[in-house]
Amino acid sequence: MAAVQNVGIVGAGAAGLTAAIFLADAGITVEVLEKATEPQTLGSGITLQGNALRILKQLGVWDKVEEKGFGFSTLGLRAPDPDGTVLAVLEDIRTGGEDLPATMGMYRPELTAILRERALQAGATITYGKSVTGIKDDGGSVTVSTGDGGSATYDLLIGADGLHSAVRKAIGIDVEPVTTGMGIWRAFVPRPEEVVRTDLTYGGPCFIAGYCPTGPDTIYAYLVEKAQERKHEDGPRIMAELAAAYGGPWKEIRENLDQTARINYTKFTTHIVEGPWNRGRTVIIGDAAHSCPPTVAQGAAMALEDAAVLAELLTSHDELTETLWKEFTDRRLDRARTVVNASVQLGQWMLDGVRDADVPGLMHSLSSMLKNPA
Ligand SMILES: Cc1cc2nc3c(=O)[nH]c(=O)nc-3n(C[C@H](O)[C@H](O)[C@H](O)COP(=O)(O)OP(=O)(O)OC[C@H]3O[C@@H](n4cnc5c(N)ncnc54)[C@H](O)[C@@H]3O)c2cc1C
Repeated sequence: MAAVQNVGIVGAGAAGLTAAIFLADAGITVEVLEKATEPQTLGSGITLQGNALRILKQLGVWDKVEEKGFGFSTLGLRAPDPDGTVLAVLEDIRTGGEDLPATMGMYRPELTAILRERALQAGATITYGKSVTGIKDDGGSVTVSTGDGGSATYDLLIGADGLHSAVRKAIGIDVEPVTTGMGIWRAFVPRPEEVVRTDLTYGGPCFIAGYCPTGPDTIYAYLVEKAQERKHEDGPRIMAELAAAYGGPWKEIRENLDQTARINYTKFTTHIVEGPWNRGRTVIIGDAAHSCPPTVAQGAAMALEDAAVLAELLTSHDELTETLWKEFTDRRLDRARTVVNASVQLGQWMLDGVRDADVPGLMHSLSSMLKNPA
């Protein structure tokens, strides 16, 4: 028998839905509480690395992900010149195994929809408009209260409620994300024909100019700059100004940077909660427990891995014991910390203008670690 029979999950993002699927598949009663009033339908793109794809395959949604997204296994490097001269095309390490591409670009709401549908199919319930505001653990169960005056009691509560996690605060963990000094403009635009992989340009007016195909017809394009106070509505103008320095596909991307391009600006953050990630019968996973700048595009991958490992432990132990929590910490903390530190380091080298940084060395050691299943 599993360690728990009845689990509440706060947050219907990548971490929460992944945990819901694995647990509901094992016959555990799962209720997901999501504060948004309805499923997200608009958003940007996401780059999923092989180790994330491995988990999506375990969830049984790989076929759908492959159909909707855009897979590729090389990385292009371009010069910050008017032609966007291609400097190198590098073979990427397939961290999810040789049967999966190294990378998959997707439209975020599409990924969420695939996970949501699969979670419902597995028997989980997902209730929207439920904002968790309080938690009470009596040793034998945990009761959550929600903003609408409701409450519910579970054997275990999983806080998968993202960066500014209310669950993290409610269980007394006072770690908060801090900005790393960089900010990113992202735009969701039509795919120029020649964009068939991510190409990165280092230098020019931005630290990084890049893009990732998200499907046959779409890409998301991004420009990383020094963090500053920016307004989303200035996005089309500012992105077009910054993008003017970049060539190749950027010429066509720039023509599409209008009000329809769903442009937004986000500052990069970082934090990590030292283990254990539980207090009594409540545990945090995903961005609630750690965040990193997307310099290696690993945030969602770490969220999926957290959920997969937690579900594996909950279904293979028959009690919720300190041994289970120690195993969870042992399998997750160092791996997540290594990803967070590497992601921050890559950004810091750019902020400090370090020209001889061992980027290939860092990337190789990170990929070698991520190749081993979580
Ligand atoms: C600019 C940027 C680009 C990124 N690009 C990538 C990338 O390319 N690849 C990658 O792997 N990662 C990327 N990431 C990181 C990735 O987005 C996150 O790591 C991932 O979404 C975390 O998933 P999560 O489920 O933990 O949290 P979230 O996706 O944030 O989900 C949390 C959910 O909890 C809900 N919630 C919050 N509070 C409450 C509450 N009190 N009650 C109920 N529900 C609540 C929220 O509404 C939300 O639905 C990027 C991050 C940023 C900032």
